[in-house]
This record gives sequence, structure tokens and C-alpha cells, in this order.
Amino acid sequence: MPAQRFIFPPLFLLLLAGCVAHPLAHADDIAAIINAEQPTEAGFQRWLADFAQQAQAEGISAATVSSALQDIRLNPEVLKRDAFQPEFVKPVWDYLSTAVSELRVANGQAKYAEHRQLLEVISAKYQVNPTILVGIWGLETAYGHTFGGFNVIEALATLSYTGRRQSYAQPQLLAALRIIDAKQVPADQMFGSWAGAMGHTQFIPTSYELRALDEDGDGKRDIWNSLPDVFASTANYLAKVGWQFEQDWGLPVHLPSNFDWSLADPEAKRSIAEWQGLGVQATDWRMMPTNTEQDAVILLPAGHQGPAFLVLSNFRAILRYNNSTAYALAIGLLADQIGGKSAPELVWPEHVEALTRDERQQLQQALTAAGYDTGGVDGIIGANSRKALRAWQTTQGLPADGFPTKAQLLRLMQ
Ligand code: CA
Repeated sequence: MPAQRFIFPPLFLLLLAGCVAHPLAHADDIAAIINAEQPTEAGFQRWLADFAQQAQAEGISAATVSSALQDIRLNPEVLKRDAFQPEFVKPVWDYLSTAVSELRVANGQAKYAEHRQLLEVISAKYQVNPTILVGIWGLETAYGHTFGGFNVIEALATLSYTGRRQSYAQPQLLAALRIIDAKQVPADQMFGSWAGAMGHTQFIPTSYELRALDEDGDGKRDIWNSLPDVFASTANYLAKVGWQFEQDWGLPVHLPSNFDWSLADPEAKRSIAEWQGLGVQATDWRMMPTNTEQDAVILLPAGHQGPAFLVLSNFRAILRYNNSTAYALAIGLLADQIGGKSAPELVWPEHVEALTRDERQQLQQALTAAGYDTGGVDGIIGANSRKALRAWQTTQGLPADGFPTKAQLLRLMQ
């Protein structure tokens, strides 16, 4: 279920971002929770009995259905995670400090060295940079340290029965049963996250069906136990969503003092040569990519007061794996450092207060009331909200970076 949109949530709605590995796409349907009957074990078992019939009608063998579903219970931990909606969102610098910690970089370098030969074979075969594969492995499961510990069938059955992600979960549950039916993995060894993302690099079942590969040739696409299968499947995924071999994902850049902040938008593509013409330069320890004809956008993950990045089409490919800008940035930075590049000096505006979920909605309401259409009030700062905010910022003589701050919310609400 790779998301197609290139969203740029300035406040990094990590837990709301939809993606292959973390299928939490804008599932904000509180009404569904209010209207649903109270989940009970008895109700779940009744639902499961109905579902078992449906699964057989969809062509899954009776033996698989009965063995995979026989010991399944409603999982309260899954329900708890499904209902959780963070009011406060971690600022990007906090996220990156964990995601790209010194320990994760050091472990990644060690894993890269350990599996270098295999990674280079896979990299050449599927045309995907090896350090990106190690970076994804590192961020998804700490290099295979933890797959999430949930029985995927039980987690997806729980989510299919009730909660905010039923429309996501049921097709995934059917896909998971098909995978078991095809004897790729036994039901009791299908481990993954509470949302059904599986194995070393956290494929959801439909992505597994579409992209997972049997690289070691044992007849099983084993993303739980076979690193050749894991790396090949991950590389295959990225290759299929447009990875450009031996190209960068992006790099930190210096913007000129007269830079027009409204150009820093994920939808405002320009060639690298054009950006250079506007005064965009690589920071001192890096070089601009040599192919200056390729398209790039300027990313300001913390607004105009924070660091700037020039990001290329490979950044989009990472977003197709997991549609969160902070995630994609973390993968890029982690992969660079696993490959031996030094960490860039990034100075974050830690004094800038992020908006809470309520405040993001207040901002959208205030902008709409002031005549700037945010395309609805959902608490998600997407393209329409950014456009509205930029228009308002311009009228206020503020840098039009489309990045919402608490100070601006207060000003808008005066
Ligand atoms: Ca295999």
C-alpha cells in the first residue's frame, strides 16, 4: 500500500503518514469508533466465523483458514495502538536524533561490513544503492533486532473486526492468508508489527505479494529468515518505484539570503542547474550532483529558520516506501553515514514550538475564516494548508515558508 502523494507535513505527522510499512494513512475516522459496537471477544469470534467463510469464498483453502484462524483472539494491545492519536508530535530534530543516532549508524556500518558481498550482488542486480537497503533495515527493525512481535493474522483480524483501520486491514488479512496458503511461511511464524508490517524490512502483506522475492532459491519468499530474500525484496520494491541507481537522495544545501521561501515546496520542481542559478549551493563538505539537469525540490523540514535540503527523485522513492518526510530524511542521512560520509552539521530551530493536533486545526479554521482556503480542517498540514499559510504569511510580511508556528497561530487568532 505505498502512498502515492508526496506529502510534506511540516510538523512531521509520523504516526499519521500512510506507507507500505506503516499503514496509518489519515485514518482519522472517529465516527467509526463512536458508531461501532463495543468490541468483545464473543463479537470478535462471531465476526471471525463469518470472515472464515468469506476467505474460503475468495479461494483460500479450508485447511489454511481453519489452521490460521483457530487460536486467534481479539488483541487489546492492537486496539490500543490503533486508537492512539498523538496530540503532541515530535519535532523533526527529536525524531532524527533517535532515528539516526550514533549507535544506529555504528551498527549499520558493522552490518554493512558483515553483509557487504551479498549487498553488493543485490545492489548490482536490482540497481539500488546498498547503503539505502541497510538504512531501511536499520530504521524498520534495528537490523532485524525486532519485527514487532505480533502474530500478523491476529493483529490484522483484530483491526478488520473493529477500529479505525478496517478498510485497510481486511484486504491485508486476506493477502496474509494467501501467503500462508502458498506455503511461504507458517501462520504461527508470521510475525510483524501491530499493523501487520512483516519481517526485517516490514512489508505489509499486499506489498509482499507484489514485491517480495525468493533470492536464495529455496522456493520461499522468506523476509523473516533469509537476508538474501530480505535485501532483494527491499531493493525490488525501491527499483519498482523509480529508484535511480548510484544517484543521491539529496543533500543539505545553503540558500542565499534573498531566497524566495515560497519556492521551497515539494511541488515546486526545478532542475539542479536552475536552483544553482538561484544561488543554492552545496554545504562545504558536499558536492552538488554532477547531473544538473535532473529535477529537485528544496525541503525545509523545520521552516525557514532550520536547515535546507535539496532532494532528488530518489527521495520520492523512499517516500513510496514510507510516506513520511522525516522518515525519508532519516533514511537518506543514515545511509550516507553508513556509507562513510560524515554527519552534516544541522542547526535546528529548537526554540520554535510545534503545533499540537488541536492547534493545527485551529490554524486551518483561522486561515479559512480569514479567506485562505485550506481545503478543510483535518489537522494535517498538506498542500492546500501550506498554500493558504504562505498567502497569509506574504500579506503579513513574513517569510512565506508555509511552516506553521505557534507564534503565527496566535497572530492569526488575534
Ligand atoms: Ca527464499
